[in-house]
Amino acid sequence: MDLCNLSVIRDLMSDAGITFRKEFGQNFLTNRMIPEDIADNCTDNAESMILEIGPGIGCLTQELALRFKKVVAVEIDKGLIPILGRTMSEYDNVTVINDDIMKVDLQALIDEYSDGMPVAVCANLPYYITTPILMRLLESGVRFTSITIMIQNEVAARLVAKPGSSDYGAITAVLGYYGVAKKIFKVSAGCFVPAPKVDSAVVRIDLYKEPKYSPKNEKLFRDLIRAAFEMRRKTLQNAICAKLPYSKEQVLEAIRAIGHTDTVRGERLSTEDFVKLADELS
Ligand code: SAM
Repeated sequence: MDLCNLSVIRDLMSDAGITFRKEFGQNFLTNRMIPEDIADNCTDNAESMILEIGPGIGCLTQELALRFKKVVAVEIDKGLIPILGRTMSEYDNVTVINDDIMKVDLQALIDEYSDGMPVAVCANLPYYITTPILMRLLESGVRFTSITIMIQNEVAARLVAKPGSSDYGAITAVLGYYGVAKKIFKVSAGCFVPAPKVDSAVVRIDLYKEPKYSPKNEKLFRDLIRAAFEMRRKTLQNAICAKLPYSKEQVLEAIRAIGHTDTVRGERLSTEDFVKLADELS
């Protein structure tokens, strides 16, 4: 069954008596090549378990099922579950769970289904909740090998931005703590039904196997990033002093110690710089 075919999508949904739910960010892929390309790019290890978020009617799920040992797909919309029961019936390596990915105990789910396999995430994410889902995955403590997500193109630009560029922000600096993000390809809005207002892109984040950075005080590292980008237009020194209990002298000394100028702005600092700054101030 071609699950990217518009009439197949409409028939499956009308048979199940449901329509697209905007509140769940439902924009389904209608170009067959996209789920194939996402699945091809998500991890090199065919022995992996893939955690898919938001399978919809299953167009990406089936491509993942064809390539990987196990697929566990978490879908919030209970109206889609009977459809997935139909479309996934021929794949015995797919488990569909009706739940909210923001509420699922990720470690318990991995422990239950992965059977020791490496686990990668792959998803065409709902736009309304992209960053919270990504942060939840990163902060869960689960050792995913990679996270491959389709997201709004402008969010993708932020994830892969280099320090000093206008797209570089708090999420970029935090993401660098966990791994390296790479934009794989762009997808135009016309490849979805209903068509969203903006284009999308697929980003793959390869997560460090072992933590790359070990700040003495991880909370301070995060607080510094938050402070630096909350007041983007201020110098880093002023932005930090406005939010955190350090004197101007202490902050300036730390900024100089990590090799930056007195007037540097936060957007110039790499993840590593923020770690070093936190260590200087610890
Ligand atoms: N994978 C399908 C595709 O590529 O055509 C659908 C992608 S659609 C952009 C996002 C999917 O995520 C929808 O099926 C939606 O119901 C589901 N979803 C939205 N919020 C969710 C949540 N919090 N937890 C799990 N699934 C969610």
